[in-house]
Amino acid sequence: PAGSGEAAPRLTVIGTGYLGATHAICMAVLGFDVLGVDTDAEKIETLSSGEVPFFEPGLPELLTKALESGRLRFTTSFAEAAEFGDVHFVCVGTPQQQGSDAADLRYVDSAVTELAAHLRRRALVVGKSTVPVGTAARLTELVQRVAPAGNGVELAWNPEFLREGYAVDDTLRPDRLVFGVSSDWAEERLRAAFGPVIAQGAPVVVTDLTTAELVKVAANSFLATKISYINAMAEVCEATGGDVTRLAEALSYDDRIGGRFLKPGLGFGGGCLPKDIRAFAYRAEELGVGQAVTFLREVDAINKRRRARTVDLVAELAGGDLRGVRVAALGAAFKPNSDDIRDAPALDVASTLHRLGAHVTVVDPAATDNARRNHPELSYAADALSAAEGADVVVLLTEWSEFRHLDPEAMGAAVAHRRIVDGRHALDPVQWRAAGWEYRALGRP
Ligand code: NAD
Repeated sequence: PAGSGEAAPRLTVIGTGYLGATHAICMAVLGFDVLGVDTDAEKIETLSSGEVPFFEPGLPELLTKALESGRLRFTTSFAEAAEFGDVHFVCVGTPQQQGSDAADLRYVDSAVTELAAHLRRRALVVGKSTVPVGTAARLTELVQRVAPAGNGVELAWNPEFLREGYAVDDTLRPDRLVFGVSSDWAEERLRAAFGPVIAQGAPVVVTDLTTAELVKVAANSFLATKISYINAMAEVCEATGGDVTRLAEALSYDDRIGGRFLKPGLGFGGGCLPKDIRAFAYRAEELGVGQAVTFLREVDAINKRRRARTVDLVAELAGGDLRGVRVAALGAAFKPNSDDIRDAPALDVASTLHRLGAHVTVVDPAATDNARRNHPELSYAADALSAAEGADVVVLLTEWSEFRHLDPEAMGAAVAHRRIVDGRHALDPVQWRAAGWEYRALGRP
């Protein structure tokens, strides 16, 4: 446990959203004294009362455990954080700027400035947010200028790779840790802060700040490219009568390629991949190396075309005109096991269908509240059968396991017409067609 070493650092986590709350809770469970900080007082109150403000399997139990241990507290005070912490993790959001592909760094800048203004003793500030390359160098200068402790404050970058839905496991047992540092002291502090995780066998890559920033966007660019690659093959299959699911399966047996992230369908979304590849392309252009990553623009375009194609499939099943058509939309979250609707392909498709005149009823096991807030124009149902009541077309948009296991007969009894678009290749077409359904899927005859 963290407490057994003589110099277990005290940790703060600035920004307690999906990433920060998970990090704070898991570090406390590993035995560190942790203070979570957020400008959102309501979020701090919710967390302090033992409630996780978003859906993440396993996290509520760990929050209870961490609070009971007395090792985890939350605050809105940067003064308290600066006083308390030896190592400060910055986990605030870096969304896409309105009207631009660039990352919006105002939250990172203000969090780091506010913290630094109170730092009176030696401390390490560790960025975890995903940022454009060059941000850490800029922040280093900023921190040392603003902090009363001056160059006693160092900056490091520790990009985060956790996946929503698997966030606890990814935090406690990450595939790797990346430490971007500019001194041995910073490396030693990070090794101390991740002692229990390293002891469990996580490989550590120690590098400079620039490379650490790049690792994260390079990883997300690769993953996005892999998804869009197979979806590009789906487009070719659509034009030629091929079956992209068999094609993907055949590719996946080649272990140089591998089957993960090679799933054709409606494509990627969420609070990371889309904005990260756009911000990377934008930053590369700023730096004069835009040509190296122009393919990311294509990756983005392929991904968006899948959403449009899904809308077209629904329209085709409905006879060409969406006006007045009743659509049951299964899924709102950007992926299963999450309530995150940031840039969710499911809601993008659902709201486009609505705009084209369809009556859309959405069902999602976790994301309904979030969806309703952003899309009050859509209707919502408590379960798939109620959503399907009287539907002309059903469209599966997020592959929650409860949707994978839907009974085509029970669904068939609810709908007005047995027509389904499987946007995630989550259903068995043989079974659904046998039950009298007209079944359509992307990249498949
Ligand atoms: P989020 O929006 O859920 O959380 C961000 C939090 O920061 C919010 O609670 C917000 O109130 C808080 N905040 C904003 N400004 C602040 C300030 N000045 N001081 C203190 N708190 C402030 O975002 P997220 O999904 O947790 O993502 C955070 C960062 O982590 C992003 O850069 C993202 O790209 C990266 N990331 C996210 C994931 C993921 O799966 N969500 C995975 C890896 C990396």
